[in-house]
Amino acid sequence: MKPTTILTILIVAGMVLGAVVGEFVLHGEAIGSDHWTKVAGDLVLIRPLKLLVIPLVLFSVIAGITRVGDPAKLGRLGGATLAYYFATMLIAVAIGATLVQMINPGDLPIEVQETMRASGETAFSADTSLQSKVGDKTMGGTWTNILYQLIPSNIVQEMSAGRPLGLIVFAMGLGLALAAGGERTRAAREFFDAGFEALMTLIQWIIWLTPIGVFFLVAWTVGRIGLGNLTEPIGGYMATVFIGLAIHGLIVLPLILWLIGRVSPYRFMAKMKPALLTAFGTDSSSATLPVTIETAIDEGECSEQSSNFVLPLGSTINMDGTALYEAVAVLFLFQLYGIDLEFGQILLVVITATLAAVGAAGIPSAGLVTMVIVIAAVNGSLAGSAELPIAAIGVILGVDRLLDMCRTTVNVWGDAVGARIMTRIAPDS
Ligand code: ASP
Repeated sequence: MKPTTILTILIVAGMVLGAVVGEFVLHGEAIGSDHWTKVAGDLVLIRPLKLLVIPLVLFSVIAGITRVGDPAKLGRLGGATLAYYFATMLIAVAIGATLVQMINPGDLPIEVQETMRASGETAFSADTSLQSKVGDKTMGGTWTNILYQLIPSNIVQEMSAGRPLGLIVFAMGLGLALAAGGERTRAAREFFDAGFEALMTLIQWIIWLTPIGVFFLVAWTVGRIGLGNLTEPIGGYMATVFIGLAIHGLIVLPLILWLIGRVSPYRFMAKMKPALLTAFGTDSSSATLPVTIETAIDEGECSEQSSNFVLPLGSTINMDGTALYEAVAVLFLFQLYGIDLEFGQILLVVITATLAAVGAAGIPSAGLVTMVIVIAAVNGSLAGSAELPIAAIGVILGVDRLLDMCRTTVNVWGDAVGARIMTRIAPDS
């Protein structure tokens, strides 16, 4: 059996076992066992992976750029990549928005709506950490935030804060300069190239911890939420997100890959399994990045040039799953509060949800927080009539982790499909 097949079997086993332990051992337990399960998952998987993200972004982007070398080719690759990111995110949001209108998950009996609102708002006001993160998330604030992240003033600060966007821009600039330096900069190019290879070896070792880490993380999630929640009134909302993600991940992206990439999509999906399962378990595209790059190059036949460029950037910018989820969640909440939206306002949701997904970092719950941008934008267009209180996000708070796992998987899948498609533009020569 191939090592990746063994790894996949172990991860799936870890997940199933985690769900069983979570549901039957941890769920309903008031004691601190859930705390220790989370700590174990963090130690075994999340922290080792996150440890690699910043050095990996630096080395992989520089190695990727210097390998492509030719500025004209880089320009083409960059343009095509950004076009791919935005087109697929917009399709995802459109699917989400259409589904909510069709399924109407917020259209519940009045008493149920009232109970859900009240308990949601209580949950929100009890969660002070969420409140502080939500803070000032206006449209203007988001743009400024994205722009400031793109052009940081202190690269060491960005690296120590774990913000990859500015680092990517810096690495691209340095990579271009190294490529332009000819013979004088050859030693530095070789240094980054060799460093990248070494990091990949390190990742291959760490990947074997995934099954254990995923076991703990899934047990923790299921233990807190409980599988019974799927049948609650909120189940309709969850089902809408699941169906949307399934349509986008299993039909739309494969179709795009097949049409433009000329690759058998489901075979590629099977090869990318270790990355997809890690995304599901860790709930973070950034933490998954090391595994995504390793799997794309070693198993998925993506070129190094394309992977080193498309995947680091995609893990923070390209979030199809998050974009779809934000649209569904916001429209669901407006339904639940009985606020009717016009077509123009739904269009506003589509556009701002895409932007909010770009602004979301590749970490757990980021989408839940940037969703406030979408709510604020729609509220702004309601001109004085009833607005949706921000505390409404409390309604979906309890089940968010489960949805986050699924949308993160679609986020990473979208990046992988992008890397495979761009391999046609930038093959390894
Ligand atoms: N957890 C997601 C990710 O890392 C972001 C989000 O939607 O919360 O891709």
